[in-house]
Amino acid sequence: MHDCRMSGNKAAEQIIQWGRSYWMETCFDRAQALKPCPSGATGACCRICHMGPCRFVHGSEDRVEKGICGSKLTTVVARNFLRMAAAGTAAHSDHARELALLLLKVARGETKEFDIKDAKKLSRVAGILGIETDGRDKYELAEEVAKRIIDDFGRQWGILNYIKRAPLKTRERWEKWNIIPVGIDREVAEALHRTNIGVDHDPESLLLSALRVSIADGWGGSMIASDISDILFGTPSPHKSEAGFGIFSDEMVNLLVIGHNPALSEKLLEVLSEPDIIEYVHSKGAQGIVLGDIFGMRHGIPSAGGFTNQELCLIMGIIEAVVVDAQCVMPTLPDLAYNFHTKVITTSSKAHLPGALHIPYDAHKAMETAREIVTLAIDNYPNRTGMGEKVKEKTAVLSGFSPECLENINGDMVRFSFAQLNRAVREGRIRGMVGLVGCDNPRVEATGVHTCLAKELVKDDVLVFTTECGAAACSLSALLNPDEILKEAGPGLRRTCEDLSIPPILHLGSCNDNARILNMLSSIVAEGDLSEEIGGLPVVIIAPEWMAEKEIAAGCYFAASGIPVIMGGPSPVEASQDVEKIMTEEWYEKFKGAIHFEPDYEKIYDLAIEYIDRAREALDLEVYEFGR
Ligand code: SF4
Repeated sequence: MHDCRMSGNKAAEQIIQWGRSYWMETCFDRAQALKPCPSGATGACCRICHMGPCRFVHGSEDRVEKGICGSKLTTVVARNFLRMAAAGTAAHSDHARELALLLLKVARGETKEFDIKDAKKLSRVAGILGIETDGRDKYELAEEVAKRIIDDFGRQWGILNYIKRAPLKTRERWEKWNIIPVGIDREVAEALHRTNIGVDHDPESLLLSALRVSIADGWGGSMIASDISDILFGTPSPHKSEAGFGIFSDEMVNLLVIGHNPALSEKLLEVLSEPDIIEYVHSKGAQGIVLGDIFGMRHGIPSAGGFTNQELCLIMGIIEAVVVDAQCVMPTLPDLAYNFHTKVITTSSKAHLPGALHIPYDAHKAMETAREIVTLAIDNYPNRTGMGEKVKEKTAVLSGFSPECLENINGDMVRFSFAQLNRAVREGRIRGMVGLVGCDNPRVEATGVHTCLAKELVKDDVLVFTTECGAAACSLSALLNPDEILKEAGPGLRRTCEDLSIPPILHLGSCNDNARILNMLSSIVAEGDLSEEIGGLPVVIIAPEWMAEKEIAAGCYFAASGIPVIMGGPSPVEASQDVEKIMTEEWYEKFKGAIHFEPDYEKIYDLAIEYIDRAREALDLEVYEFGR
């Protein structure tokens, strides 16, 4: 389907090769040097007690059948999978907790550094939580919303607040199989307890627990994080921006932000427009200052790509400072920075990098911290060494879609309606929808699998929602440039997109914004005329380059919600056919969702289309025909 290179992005490939010529190692070199352990990679290594690790060597003739404690391979594989789902949920949800606590501080006036930017979204969330909104002061309302949401983390009985946002039929399935989460932290703790030595040995029960803890992420932590970000920083709406290594240039002070917490990047963005700062930049001989982003693209911050591009940005030699918070940050950044003048700055109390400068982020003095970081970057501009691979490529991008903006905006750029979208699906102008999500990964042609699948899907009239590194991959390949991608789209999809004024690939945000896909699908169900539940819609999720535990949690919450999920690369449950069968056949029967692991990109594509066409047939929709 595509040539085999390190990265699917030409400019990235150029930087990798330049770095190699100077012995600068990146994740691409490490991925080649370090082969995965055959037991661990397939889920067949248990290390939860100190009698082990017990390795059930996959594919070996003399493979042992039981661990020292008596655990069977199937149990070990399911247990490992559940632990990944719990860890992923913990990461997304801990991020959400920080935002919920920030909202509480803002509401109580304990910090003046942030404010409520979207009062309408606050009222909407309050309404979902069953909180009276009429005539109430926004700070009083925000306090009650924050408290109600914070309750979700430690709740010991009842159910998560946002469960009620799922369509009734979807919830009924969860109720039947007892996978409705009570509290977010409780589910993570219970998953870790269940997977301790000598607790749950039933693979079916362990895997249902993986769904339960992951629903606490998708319909809990991740959804909370997206909602509170909207309340505090504004609900995303479509905006034009740029993507590519060329967002950074010789004449500018270049500042790169890596991480997932929007609070700091919001403040950095604010500082950049201060007259004093602009004057200071000019005093150092630079024409201006650029803030580039790995992962996010909130508020149109230009994107330098996803996970595998972070080291490459440093090799350009023109980055004055890299500021990181938490999640998916490579610990090699300070080592690489040592070759250049670049300063690496950590800000989170829970994410330190040896060799980096630590400037603690504090919500009470966020502007002061942001000014300190920006000033440090400006001061570093005259220290450039001249080393580095200069790349100029960049492309226009339209990003910042959200279910709310699709519902509400009627303007030049977007005049969308779910009724029209559903009609286009029913009539076969849109064949189906795919959420193209997840990491980019140096073990495959990084970013290339995302972009290749995205192009093929839109050609076949499939509307694509994309988030996180998948979205970054699409943005750097000009697939989020509406003018370019519309030319690639199949005739039915193109016509529909032109009618609705939307691009064929919609950028919905970062990792936790996968929850926006759940909300969007709930709106599609509520609109009627397709399926009464999320399950059964002609929708598939593909995470073709996934690598993080967070993606296992996301895969599980999508599957539990009724969506077939196809994850690329080798399977972490390959050692047990029983586990694979539960996650595909049994989950499909119970929830209409499934998780497949499929390393072959063409098979990923074929399987997605097969699911979409099967759903169309089951819903008795018009038979899809290309060129309709
Ligand atoms: Fe081995 Fe059992 Fe200990 Fe796992 S829990 S390491 S299978 S003895």
